[in-house]
Amino acid sequence: MRVLVTGGAGYIGSVVSARLLAEGHQVVIVDDLSTGHADAVPKAAEFHQLSIAALDPVLGDWAIDAVIHFAAKSLVGESVDEPAQYWRNNVVGTVALLDSLRAHGVPRIVFSSSAATYGHSDQQPIREDTPARPGNPYGASKLAIDLALADYARAYGLAATSLRYFNVAGALIDAAGDSYGERHATETHLIPNALRAAAGQGPALSLFGTDYPTPDGTCVRDYIHVRDLADAHLLALRAGVPGEHQIVNLGSGAGSSVREVLATVGDVTGRQVPVNEAARRAGDPPVLVASNEYAASLLGWRPTLDLTAMITDAWRFEQRGR
Ligand code: UDP
Repeated sequence: MRVLVTGGAGYIGSVVSARLLAEGHQVVIVDDLSTGHADAVPKAAEFHQLSIAALDPVLGDWAIDAVIHFAAKSLVGESVDEPAQYWRNNVVGTVALLDSLRAHGVPRIVFSSSAATYGHSDQQPIREDTPARPGNPYGASKLAIDLALADYARAYGLAATSLRYFNVAGALIDAAGDSYGERHATETHLIPNALRAAAGQGPALSLFGTDYPTPDGTCVRDYIHVRDLADAHLLALRAGVPGEHQIVNLGSGAGSSVREVLATVGDVTGRQVPVNEAARRAGDPPVLVASNEYAASLLGWRPTLDLTAMITDAWRFEQRGR
């Protein structure tokens, strides 16, 4: 297939692009480089520095078979302070993209949705029919797009899949030695921050909350390897059905606490992570774990790589100094 990847200069977009190329697909990346990196674009991909809202005049010339849509603003805290950016970039921008797909007859889309659509839930593990009650504008923007996709699929015959990621970690280092991983200017995620703290390249890790109602008092999250996640995108591309919208959770089905993650970082790096125990971070639910039964039945997808593999690959990527 000739696949358009929006946000292909970002973390997950670049990994998925590299996997698509390795599988023999053609990849056209659009990214406005607002948070992505030009040098994260795989060498074999075609690259256009463009916003998703500006695709309409050029899309007709590209003969695209499918879109994987990652381009989005994705910082929860920023979304609380600047919701307009999230509604404009994520929601309005995606509706413009969907209208361009319609106008130019692009029949299928796989969308990067999020566990943030569910918000706090007492129902664990979270299934796709768990009520979606996002706790912040970032999650609301992803849910709004999921709802739009359902309508566009039903009315206009689009084949659409929303993949709701839980906590993604790890990196891809390919056979040619090229590496793709997490490099955010503002890094909020636990694993990269813990690795930098362990390496002495960042401040001590602030551990947000030790009094949660969990076995060790720290938050429990469901981590999945970005390589497993990429496989799910390739499967979803093939599984899409015209006129149907599917929502699929992607997680391991099991949780790890922040303290368990920090212990694994210690084991992998051979260095203890310096930690400051801090107050809870606003909006963090105590436990978020995915049910991945639907991903298994619909896509035939199961995660294969554990937390140690994620942290080992993320550590190798960090040590490459990018
Ligand atoms: N966390 C932490 N210190 C950090 C970053 C995250 O203690 O510097 C905790 C956070 O409170 C949450 C878990 O680690 O319980 C995972 O957070 P992350 O931001 O990686 O992902 P999220 O679950 O928020 O999408």
